[in-house]
Amino acid sequence: MNQIITTCCIAGGGPAGMMLGFLLARAGVSVVVLEKHADFLRDFRGDTVHPSTLEIVHELGLLEEFLKLPHSKVRGVSLQIGDDHVTIGHFEHLPVYCKFVALMPQWDFLNFIADRAERYPGFDLRMRTEATDLILEDGRVAGVRAKASNGDLEIRADLVVACDGRHSTLRHRAGLKAEDLGAPMDVMWFRISRKENDPAEVIGHVEGGRMLVMLNRNDYWQCAYVIPKGTADEVKQGGLDKFRNNVTGISPFLGDRLEEIDSWDKIKLLTVMVDRLRHWYRPGLICIGDAAHAMSPIGGVGINLAVQDAVAAANILAEPLRRGTVTIETLNKVQKRREFPTRVTQSLQIILQNNIISPALAHKGKRPRAPLFIKILRWPLLRRIPGRLLALGVRPEHIHTRANVMPQISGIRRKSLTHV
Ligand SMILES: Cc1cc2nc3c(=O)[nH]c(=O)nc-3n(C[C@H](O)[C@H](O)[C@H](O)COP(=O)(O)OP(=O)(O)OC[C@H]3O[C@@H](n4cnc5c(N)ncnc54)[C@H](O)[C@@H]3O)c2cc1C
Repeated sequence: MNQIITTCCIAGGGPAGMMLGFLLARAGVSVVVLEKHADFLRDFRGDTVHPSTLEIVHELGLLEEFLKLPHSKVRGVSLQIGDDHVTIGHFEHLPVYCKFVALMPQWDFLNFIADRAERYPGFDLRMRTEATDLILEDGRVAGVRAKASNGDLEIRADLVVACDGRHSTLRHRAGLKAEDLGAPMDVMWFRISRKENDPAEVIGHVEGGRMLVMLNRNDYWQCAYVIPKGTADEVKQGGLDKFRNNVTGISPFLGDRLEEIDSWDKIKLLTVMVDRLRHWYRPGLICIGDAAHAMSPIGGVGINLAVQDAVAAANILAEPLRRGTVTIETLNKVQKRREFPTRVTQSLQIILQNNIISPALAHKGKRPRAPLFIKILRWPLLRRIPGRLLALGVRPEHIHTRANVMPQISGIRRKSLTHV
């Protein structure tokens, strides 16, 4: 069996794992990131890079290059609930460099971070490598067992960070218990071609019994059709014609284009969950991102919260990792720092789930109305509050880690792909 010895082993190359790996390598910490897939090409993980994340990219001095990647800018968010059209937040008043949400495929974001991270000698990204178990020694986590394409691998590390998402293998192996906060919906995810004269913004439309969110990806719409939890089989039994009719009933301009959905294979079911660990750590291991707190897609804030967790974790852990002085108190500091923003954000998501999504999905045929707390957002000053919460979140993080290592200018792109 191959063995690697490193300072920090991160399981999961999503927004949390890639950002943490990058920041630690930049601060001079040796880090191995394990990602089970061969690439970052997955449709279903959201595309929203919020002002809080753009601010981080700016603080890292990478914003100009980052914004050269294809993206569209969203300067406010509106919701159509039955006949009520409400702008629920805008971003122009925010005290940040980018007063917009950049809509960018998540694989572009992750490839960008991977490319910059690989310029640091301490960064080792291992694609097609799945963390399968923890190495336990004297009651503490001493590393990770993994399955790579060329065989089994053992990674010994001073600290393991579980960034392996909502179905985290490592948090399960560590015996950490999550509190299920409940989600009333699942999402059916599909693409429809986009025409030049289609609207440009993100569209969120709630009708009796149905809800559709459409993300503009330039030449196509990434559509999220929201259904009551556990009803995917029922929707499928209703047949594709009924499904297509339901979608055009909400967004008539899609009309004949829905013929593109000619098979259920073109529709992916994504189950939504909202949960939170009571304890995010045990000796030798900590969870961050969705592995610590699965987020609802509401507000599209999950990626950004995962990035904020990574920034906070790097701020707290980089120096102790360099000096070999990480203790249980150090890990507790990370949980303390990030638990409050997580709790507030999840509470807001649950308020929206219970007051907009659940009633809308339950009232089949009846046109829903916007609840009062949404209608009062017609006052521009009040609209600033959700705008700020959505864009910056609670307790925004800033980069405090130092760049202790010089990046190598000629990229050594995907070096670990050739290792495995
Ligand atoms: C339907 C839906 C839509 C969403 N839309 C948005 C949105 O528009 N905007 C937004 O901000 N958030 C959105 N979210 C939430 C967002 O996807 C998550 O909160 C965010 O991706 C969490 O980042 P993460 O890095 O913690 O985990 P993930 O993004 O889940 O990344 C985990 C990574 O670990 C890898 N992995 C898993 N297990 C292992 C293993 N054992 N070994 C090695 N690698 C492993 C996975 O392949 C993955 O790359 C959405 C969620 C859902 C369900």
